[in-house]
Amino acid sequence: PVARLAMPVTNAPTSAYAKEKGANGKYLVTLIPGDGIGPEVSNSVKEIYRAANVPIEWEEVNVTPTIKNGKQVIPEESVVSIKKNTIALKGPLATPIGKGHVSLNLTLRRTFSLFANVRPCRSIAGYQTPYDNVDTVLIRENTEGEYSGIEHEVVDGVVQSIKLITLEASERVARYAFHHAEQNGRNKVTAVHKANIMKMSDGMFLHACRQVAKEYPHIEYDEDLLDRACLRIVQDPAPYADRVMVMPNLYGDILSDMCAGLIGGLGLTPSGNIGKDASLFEAVHGTAPAIAGKDMANPTALLLSSIMMLRHMSLFEHADKIESGVFSAIAAGERTGDLGGDLGTKAFTESIIKRL
Ligand code: NAD
Repeated sequence: PVARLAMPVTNAPTSAYAKEKGANGKYLVTLIPGDGIGPEVSNSVKEIYRAANVPIEWEEVNVTPTIKNGKQVIPEESVVSIKKNTIALKGPLATPIGKGHVSLNLTLRRTFSLFANVRPCRSIAGYQTPYDNVDTVLIRENTEGEYSGIEHEVVDGVVQSIKLITLEASERVARYAFHHAEQNGRNKVTAVHKANIMKMSDGMFLHACRQVAKEYPHIEYDEDLLDRACLRIVQDPAPYADRVMVMPNLYGDILSDMCAGLIGGLGLTPSGNIGKDASLFEAVHGTAPAIAGKDMANPTALLLSSIMMLRHMSLFEHADKIESGVFSAIAAGERTGDLGGDLGTKAFTESIIKRL
């Protein structure tokens, strides 16, 4: 049997990662500190890695967009760095609301075909929530669905947003979900959908999942409506601990925040964007502008994302050490404000470092 880790292993079956090494023999990893609380939580990760002697050298890049031919593009240096290193850790980026802006997160996902977004949610020992047995893994299709960015005004007062679903992207994420279940000791895959209403688009997604399920006869497969899945998880999360849930883009965005709520909020939830040629790890949360620059942010979500990254790079010992450091700090009551504690980002970082 495969040992169950708190933060899962995320390698795709097809990925061939060229682990770049810098002049000092350390692995080069692209770091995008991000906006808002991004730089503070990134600093926390950097300090913990330094203390834990992780053999990583950060290549810090800027992703502030520039305008080229009237289009927003991310600076070439960041694209070159991620292409070369194939692994990146990213802080949150502010998405301007309204016309004329393309989300940089979307641009990164498209540029690097980051097709699967893995979002684990696990109860944290010692931190009291309504349930102590949440252990969900949700895999979100990451490149299409309602997030395709195809929107237009048909006539005054009528707009259309196109939900795009392709067989290719659906099969790709479904195959990854089965592989992920196999790799992490989960024996079931549940496709979450609304095919009762969106018969064609979600219908095609389900068709892809059913086809791929035949390639994995040793893994159980079933389907659940999104609304019913929400109801069941909040009533009793236990049955979801043995499986992986896979779903179209928007549903994954929403359902993963619901799961985050069950374990203590966005300060705790990590994610990995998995692609064939590059992977990018980031917290689920955004820039939290209200607490930015105030030494109040919880760095746990980015740190746990970085632990997924370490396992992705087969740096298992360092991952284990940092993971146990952060969980034991929280269990001992050393917590940031979002978890009811009185520690600032820096003091919480120090308390993790003491436990390494
Ligand atoms: P948010 O995640 O930034 O904040 C939601 C709530 O959670 C706030 O109360 C915030 O203070 C709290 N919170 C979030 N992370 C926390 C942490 N680490 N520690 C303590 N508290 C934390 O969501 P939002 O306010 O909807 O979005 C703000 C900006 O972030 C927007 O521009 C949005 O587009 C962007 N965003 C970016 C990403 C990303 O880059 N991946 C993801 C989500 C949102």
